[in-house]
Amino acid sequence: DLDSVTPPLPSISSFRTERRWGDTTSYAGKKKLQSWYQLPNGNWELGKILSTSVTETVISLPNEKVIKVKTEDLVPANPDILNGVDDLMQLSYLNEPSVLYNLQYRYNRDMIYTKAGPVLVAINPFKKVCLYGNEYIEAYKHKAVDSPHVYAITDTAIREMVRDEVNQSIIISGESGAGKTETAKIAMQYLAALGGGSGIEHEILKTNPILEAFGNAKTLRNDNSSRFGKLIEIHFSETGKISGANIQTFLLEKSRVVQCTEGERSYHIFYQLCAGAPPALREMLNLKSADEYKYLQQSNCYSITGVDDAEEFRVVKEALDVVHINKEDQESVFAMLAAVLWLGNISFSVIDNENHVEAVADEGLFTVAKLVGCCPEELMLALSTRKMRVGNDNIVQKLTLSQAVDTRDALAKSIYACLFEWLVEQINKSLAVGKRRTGRSISILDIYGFESFDRNSFEQFCINYANERLQQHFNRHLFKLEQEEYIQDGIDWTRVEFEDNQDCLGLFEKRPLGLLSLLDEESTFPNGSDLTFANKLKQHLSSNSSFRGERDKAFTISHYAGEVTYDTTGFLEKNRDLLHLDSIQLLSSCSCHLPQIFASSMLNRSEKPVVGPLHKLGGADSQKLSVATKFKGQLFLLMKRLENTTPHFIRCIKPNNSQSPGIYEQGLVLQQLRCCGVLEVVRISRSGFPTRMSHQKFARRYGFLLLENVASQEPLSVSVAILHQFNILPEMYQVGYTKLFFRTGQIGVLEDTRNRT
Ligand code: ATP
Ligand code: MG
Repeated sequence: DLDSVTPPLPSISSFRTERRWGDTTSYAGKKKLQSWYQLPNGNWELGKILSTSVTETVISLPNEKVIKVKTEDLVPANPDILNGVDDLMQLSYLNEPSVLYNLQYRYNRDMIYTKAGPVLVAINPFKKVCLYGNEYIEAYKHKAVDSPHVYAITDTAIREMVRDEVNQSIIISGESGAGKTETAKIAMQYLAALGGGSGIEHEILKTNPILEAFGNAKTLRNDNSSRFGKLIEIHFSETGKISGANIQTFLLEKSRVVQCTEGERSYHIFYQLCAGAPPALREMLNLKSADEYKYLQQSNCYSITGVDDAEEFRVVKEALDVVHINKEDQESVFAMLAAVLWLGNISFSVIDNENHVEAVADEGLFTVAKLVGCCPEELMLALSTRKMRVGNDNIVQKLTLSQAVDTRDALAKSIYACLFEWLVEQINKSLAVGKRRTGRSISILDIYGFESFDRNSFEQFCINYANERLQQHFNRHLFKLEQEEYIQDGIDWTRVEFEDNQDCLGLFEKRPLGLLSLLDEESTFPNGSDLTFANKLKQHLSSNSSFRGERDKAFTISHYAGEVTYDTTGFLEKNRDLLHLDSIQLLSSCSCHLPQIFASSMLNRSEKPVVGPLHKLGGADSQKLSVATKFKGQLFLLMKRLENTTPHFIRCIKPNNSQSPGIYEQGLVLQQLRCCGVLEVVRISRSGFPTRMSHQKFARRYGFLLLENVASQEPLSVSVAILHQFNILPEMYQVGYTKLFFRTGQIGVLEDTRNRT
């Protein structure tokens, strides 16, 4: 943990807290130096200073062009010797262009990992890089290499788990396509290699193809985009072997099952099943090719370049075997998938002049009925009518076309979401931690990053809320707790301000007047609509500085990562996420076991009416947690679990939007670096005292190097004598009540001497 590099000392007083910080070194009179100049397109170019005054500087650019610029527009560049340093802390000038350049310099040489103080930055190479596999694992295990790597950070996690007897977490964040899921798999690979032996590690690794098949899809941003969040907790025995694991998933995007945008796909498993099912299974499920299913047709995209869905199907089936899902259950899973696909092909015909409809008794209807095990007439009724209770009477209401389509789609989405949950449950049973557990674990969190699109809906609202929570965790650990430790130990420290996102979190969570409460409240009102919801927000939240009402049904939130405007269309519906009781009853009456399990899990959940009297809405509709409330609860538990761990942060960066190797778009990278506060972390680590050791430990560790006897054997006196003997400058350390605090690089010389003696 001791650093061996000595960066120049930044002055704390010049610490600036604005987001686009830059060093304010004066350039006047400094000829021949290099400096950054921003081109009109926003990119930075390295220029050589030919002549300079307080106001104007003449520089030559790489294309031989000589231009005159305002001196104040120049940003200092680092000397060549610092090109491509593996920790941004080592840069003499810590400004945006220098950081961007350093990362690019490394990226161009396939060094995709760089430390930013305590944080690991990983830039997606979008190609195979030779950095993984047994040879590398061995090298990191034996500390034969020290370049930044997922392996290195995972190794640290293992060591700290053992040394401190504290659970660890590896928190991976970044935009869609930045490489979170791949990074998580690389970390798991390392854990499996070091903690393997019991055999359970193979099972753990096989959960990846399963969860990706059922929870990932091709989007415009990523051919293998995770549409759910995931926390995998890997448990270790006393001997350091993996003893089991547990997976928790968050908020699967179920709307994708019934609708998806042009050029995207639904979940991989649908295409895999259609392409890879063997003849007997095809016949049993009455399976067609993917392009014959309405749900899959709408986006006009069936394949992914370089992916063989049929082959993937075999991989998934094998993985299901490994996690002990028996053949019978596997068949049931495939039957549910086929049922979802066939549901989408059920059509409706108008039966009266009030636009009421009836499901058409065609191949779709019969196949679904057969697959779930109900009679076709009941399915027809469940999709075309709704039983309601008015006063003491039961009445049957016919549905209009749009109501019937919604009912059908809601059923398809619920079956899929339940199937996903059921699978995770089965996997967890298979991975269950044995009785002899130490309770030590390493958790890996792979959760959707901040999203800001042209049009943002309920999904982005939830995802960005989750990111606010994670950002607070990040801030707390890297800024707040760090500084609190300085102050607690009584050292001389000027508090550094950091972007606190408590305001924004409050905006979401305050009760009764916060976004989530107001959303739930409006969701329970019979006359509530997206418009009344939007108006309520404007009425109650406009005084909050993180909130701004927009025209029509929209509103804007100032997130830590930037402003996002949300369109409330569909918010209430998605938050209620109702499945009509008729549909639940239908599932519970099915002869197949999975639909029955799904129905009972839906009813179980509906026993806890937290949102309020939702049943008033549609008469007999079930009561259950709203989506936002359930998600908030999950996040709270997640944060509680993470609070009890030592966190290790990995920030994944996407270098271009075309998923291509070798392209590094400065603007895109910069925006991501700014979003996640990486630059501030480097600043604080560098201006702070990252190395610390108790007086006792310091005296014990280096006391024997003292050349002269110290009058008192008291640890503090011994420590001070060591500091003097080694000429450690006063500004390089601070003496706290219990610990000594050092700037980076200070302990290196002591360690070297110690190792030589
Ligand atoms: P999402 O939020 O959409 O799930 P993500 O951050 O999980 O995105 P990944 O699916 O991990 O992104 O990565 C996207 C793609 O980038 C991968 O399918 C792979 O092709 C490539 N990629 C990511 N990391 C690496 C790596 N270390 N080496 C090679 N390719 C990588
Ligand atoms: Mg992913």
